[in-house]
Amino acid sequence: MVSRVIPVEPFDLIIFGGTGDLARRKILPALFRRYCSGQMPESSRVIGAARSEMDDAAYRDFIREALVEFGKSQADNAEAIEGFLAHLHYVPVDAKGEGGWSALKDLLRDDENVVRAYYFSVGPSLFADLAGQVRNRGLSNRDTRIVVEKPFGHDLESARALNEELAQYFHEDQIYRIDHYLGKETVQNLMAVRFGNMLFEPLWNAQYVDHIQITVAETVGVGGRGSYYDKSGAMRDMVQNHLMQLLCLIAMEPPARFEADAVRDEKLKVIRALDPVDPDQIVRGQYTSDGEMPSYREDAENPTSKTESFIALKCYVSNWRWANTPFYLRTGKRLSSRASEIAVVFKETPHSIFGIDSGRHRNVLSIRLQPNEGMTLGVTIKEPGPGGMRLVDVPLDMSFAEALGPEAEEVTDAYERLIMDVIRGNQTLFMRGDEVEAAWSWTDPLIEGWERRGDSPKPYDAGSAGPDDAAFLINRDGRRWRGIKS
Ligand code: NAP
Repeated sequence: MVSRVIPVEPFDLIIFGGTGDLARRKILPALFRRYCSGQMPESSRVIGAARSEMDDAAYRDFIREALVEFGKSQADNAEAIEGFLAHLHYVPVDAKGEGGWSALKDLLRDDENVVRAYYFSVGPSLFADLAGQVRNRGLSNRDTRIVVEKPFGHDLESARALNEELAQYFHEDQIYRIDHYLGKETVQNLMAVRFGNMLFEPLWNAQYVDHIQITVAETVGVGGRGSYYDKSGAMRDMVQNHLMQLLCLIAMEPPARFEADAVRDEKLKVIRALDPVDPDQIVRGQYTSDGEMPSYREDAENPTSKTESFIALKCYVSNWRWANTPFYLRTGKRLSSRASEIAVVFKETPHSIFGIDSGRHRNVLSIRLQPNEGMTLGVTIKEPGPGGMRLVDVPLDMSFAEALGPEAEEVTDAYERLIMDVIRGNQTLFMRGDEVEAAWSWTDPLIEGWERRGDSPKPYDAGSAGPDDAAFLINRDGRRWRGIKS
């Protein structure tokens, strides 16, 4: 099956931080792949901007290397690479200084048919500076968009301050706060499955769902990001944004339309319905050395760090749909496998006509974000052959790459979709300011609680499934974690 490509309007996309890691690994390769698909109009331009002195030719050389390394299936398409590079420009600009702004202004086109978007791929301390510079130097109009990377704040107070600063220069409908999890094909498919089929939605509630698990497990440690991460931890770095966004999409009511504010209103209601979490329903962990790889504290260069590289918690969405249905969230680094999954575990049938020997069976809808994006629905059937009615659970598997052909894999990169959505002016998959603040309002008291008590995270072996207490958190409810090996 060949995916349909709908071209976007011509654009000038200015990437502040155009020489940084994210620009090299994700943003430019994503744009390149959209170029290869024919989605990027010929007159579009991508302008890298950062403090480093460079001209267009040097920037193109620099990005050529990045495309060869990160261009995936197009990485060896030299002709396409050169074609894409011809759209690239570079301007040395200091977010906090005077230099470079007039050169940038000269380069930009004042044409209402050309979308102008600024991607703030720089440290968060520069977001407000950049917004002010762009606005005050006359580099924006009412249609200009800004894209803001994570982290959006460190707590409620800083997120609110940042929202207020950005609001001085841009309207909410011009601000695109990225959470790249929302750009993942499977995450959008979750909405298609829920709201495009009659099959699931009638069962999608406390009456039929036993519990929900959301796991984002990584095998890598914090590595070179150690000193940054040590001020953050898994709760701020992963739960407050990515896991909560996934939880919202699972738990929200059907929006009236698939439109930005309709979807975001429903997500916001979910966050507001989240109960506070008791400390005994939260397990924090920190990885130790396995003899070869460094421990978290060595990675973070902080021998007394109490920051968590792992967290598991149980929470409740207190509304009619989900009353008393546990949501188990878990994320961590240096775990036994790299796996992200949302699992909707349905209740057992109210009565087994097959007797106790047939065992206990639950349907599970598993939504895999990585690896092998796709969905599996576990159904119970009769084990083939003679010997009575023995039941067995088998997966009805929908791997996108298998079902939709190799092109399906080609469209899965979240940044490709999200950047094109910015150009289209579609904010559905971006977080609204009030959503971000509501998410911090829920996580702040939990963080303040363990900081006040001086709790230390539990050590766990690198390559394990996290601290034993995390297993206990769910096992004591008569349930088990899925997905990663212990
Ligand atoms: P990075 O590698 O440190 O790059 C930072 C970029 O900002 C560089 O291009 C740097 O270039 C530029 N810069 C720094 N100070 C500047 C200034 N005063 N004026 C103009 N440009 C300036 O960081 P990154 O990893 O790309 O991350 C960028 C943003 O994305 C951060 O907010 C980060 O949290 C977020 N993010 C990154 C990743 C990732 O995988 N890397 C993932 C998610 C989110 P010069 O030094 O030449 O100025």
